[in-house]
Amino acid sequence: MPESIHEKALRLIGAGAVTIRFQGDHVIDADVHGDHDTYPVVIEIGDRERCMCPASGDCSHLLAVLAVALQRNTGLPPAVTLGKVGV
Ligand SMILES: [Zn+2]
Repeated sequence: MPESIHEKALRLIGAGAVTIRFQGDHVIDADVHGDHDTYPVVIEIGDRERCMCPASGDCSHLLAVLAVALQRNTGLPPAVTLGKVGV
């Protein structure tokens, strides 16, 4: 079975692949070191999410950044957060 984007996000976080460059009330700016390249991720909270990888729609990089940002804000571990993020 292929790895789901949730599983891949957890793997990326576990590997220390997520670097948050800026996290504010409305914007999160991060880099994710994916399997093939490093992708900039910008999340405008409540508005739009953008990852520079070739995948369209939700991708593991966006999920990984969201989970790390939520952990900073709430202390919830990524495994819990990702279990709650709908697809
Ligand atoms: Zn991506």
